[in-house]
Amino acid sequence: SSFAHFGFEETLIKAIRKSEYTQPTPIQAQGIPVALSGRDIIGIAKTGSGKTAAYIWPMLVHIMDQPPLQKGQGPIGLILAPTRELALQALLFPSAMYILLSFQIYQEARRFGKIYDLQVVCCYGGGSKYEQSKALEAGAEIVVATPGRMIDMVKMKATNLERVTYLVLDEADRMFDMGFEPQVRSICDHVRPDRQCLMFSATFKKKVERLARDVLTDPVKVVQ
Ligand code: AMP
Repeated sequence: SSFAHFGFEETLIKAIRKSEYTQPTPIQAQGIPVALSGRDIIGIAKTGSGKTAAYIWPMLVHIMDQPPLQKGQGPIGLILAPTRELALQALLFPSAMYILLSFQIYQEARRFGKIYDLQVVCCYGGGSKYEQSKALEAGAEIVVATPGRMIDMVKMKATNLERVTYLVLDEADRMFDMGFEPQVRSICDHVRPDRQCLMFSATFKKKVERLARDVLTDPVKVVQ
């Protein structure tokens, strides 16, 4: 398999090749055609599988198919993810929170989003609410957020969920372990029901299965 088989535009394929990725990982080979078809996905995949790119590349295709963002509108693509619990690092170096998972997703989204001039904003618990709200108010097609902070931002009216049509729940099991289930569910309930939703989890426990049943529509299961 090669990246050209997905039917991506030349600019995206070039950017992927420039990243020195030579071929799609299994989760990419299986998940990308499903994501591009518009179907919901439940992906069982760990960090290191290439899952981030598997949902970001189709997200870019999805966004480029939509009318451009107008002033005051919230994101089209929303990625919810947990942060990593590197307690010691966070203690020694508070901005290490920033190095955590949501930042890695942010970097991947930035790297590929910039080829289409898309803005990406990252909002995570522990970061400056003022700075994050300013960044959201300036407008971004893609937001990478921890669930609690995303709700704070919506409550502050720094952004809204009205234009979200591509929703990713990454590391669903870890978001639940961190106690974010109510926040994840609340966000899913406030995003328009005809959105495309992609959920990834390293494990497929009861709680994750229940969330999948509640928030996904006729999902395709993709296993790493
Ligand atoms: P992830 O599972 O999304 O956390 O990705 C793990 C790492 O693999 C990241 O550093 C990606 O940049 C990298 N990666 C993603 N897709 C590929 C690919 N097709 N070939 C090689 N590396 C990749």
